[in-house]
Amino acid sequence: MKKFLLFFVLLTSTLLIGQNTYIHCGKLIDTKEGKVLTNKTIIVSGKKIVSVENGFIEPTTAEDKIIDLKDKTVMPGLTDMHVHIESETNPNAYLEEYTLNDADMAFNSLHYAEVTLMAGFTTVRDLGGSGVNVSLRDAINQGKVVGPRIFTAEKSLATTGGHADPTNGSKKELMGDPGPKEGVVNSIDDAAKAVRQRYKNGADLIKITATGGVLSVAKSGQNPQFTVEEIKAICDTAKDYGFHVAAHAHGDEGMQRAILGGVKTIEHGTLMSDETMELMKKYDVYLVPTITAGRTVADNAKIKDYYPAVIVPKALEIGPKIQDTFGRAYKKGVGIVFGTDAGVFFHGENGREFAYMVEAGMPAMKTIQSATITPAVILNMTDEIGQIKSGFFADIIATDDDPTQNIKTMENVVFVMKEGKVYKQ
Ligand SMILES: [Zn+2]
Repeated sequence: MKKFLLFFVLLTSTLLIGQNTYIHCGKLIDTKEGKVLTNKTIIVSGKKIVSVENGFIEPTTAEDKIIDLKDKTVMPGLTDMHVHIESETNPNAYLEEYTLNDADMAFNSLHYAEVTLMAGFTTVRDLGGSGVNVSLRDAINQGKVVGPRIFTAEKSLATTGGHADPTNGSKKELMGDPGPKEGVVNSIDDAAKAVRQRYKNGADLIKITATGGVLSVAKSGQNPQFTVEEIKAICDTAKDYGFHVAAHAHGDEGMQRAILGGVKTIEHGTLMSDETMELMKKYDVYLVPTITAGRTVADNAKIKDYYPAVIVPKALEIGPKIQDTFGRAYKKGVGIVFGTDAGVFFHGENGREFAYMVEAGMPAMKTIQSATITPAVILNMTDEIGQIKSGFFADIIATDDDPTQNIKTMENVVFVMKEGKVYKQ
């Protein structure tokens, strides 16, 4: 009966699409069970996976294609839960805020999106930019340009002078007084308005900067920057639009306020205390580690004039602590979801994070699960991404080695399929 059903499904999909793809996988990672399976065939029709079969199944019609990955390890497309897809670090980044037009950023972002996909990341959560991110998402969804599926926060929310205040570091005439329209919040009313404006602008979720940050032109990299009431108003309003809230946080007090206010993820989490780790577990809040970004800012801070002077001590202090905190949080049982802060380092190098996570004590299989099944939960995509399973999007990647044996292989993804289309082989 099962065979007959399979035949029927294959027949109907063949009639509808005209062609199926049979992917022969030497090894296949079952992200749900956390197991490496051997000798499997994934049958893909259109944008979706039809079935996963034992052994190497041969096609039924002449139009069908075979993709031979018998000497590879195949897994679902990865998700990076923290990128900034429209920009990338360089020593002129602070000047570029005054010299680049949105159109320039849009052209740059095409490259960032493409290299991200080629690195095996078929989905990303973009945590803040100027609005180019929304247009890029739409262009990718419409098939006009190549890139990962994007969920974007559009513009991050901050308080006056806070980490994501867009006029930090400007001379006074240029500072103005940005308000909720530009994502700057100083009251409960502003909080609701800023979230509603993001909805109007096309965001998929909300990002707040709950504490100071390393790369803003401001003194503190860790002070709390919102009241609990303001964060609660942001999270409550976000709920009306089906948005979850991500909170950038280095300092402990700001982190606690964000958790109590109702956010879903804490980004970086650098100075997280044991007490806050317990709070994370109690409120079912996930940590997004961004170890690669921490390492990169600490390295760049040692290059003369790479960052403005006010940033250097923050980068040297905060950067190296992130990996350590991640290791402690994982061992304490805090939920971990994969995220790198790509853009703070070069896009396309997102896979470096895996080895850093393993180095800090997380088993390789768990790091892969944190970049597949866990993001699907937070993005409300549990029936669509993160597993190689019938009915899911055909987001499929492969590496030369088995990452449970050699995690560095995640830095060199050799095959990429997104929604049934091969982008790298
Ligand atoms: Zn970030």
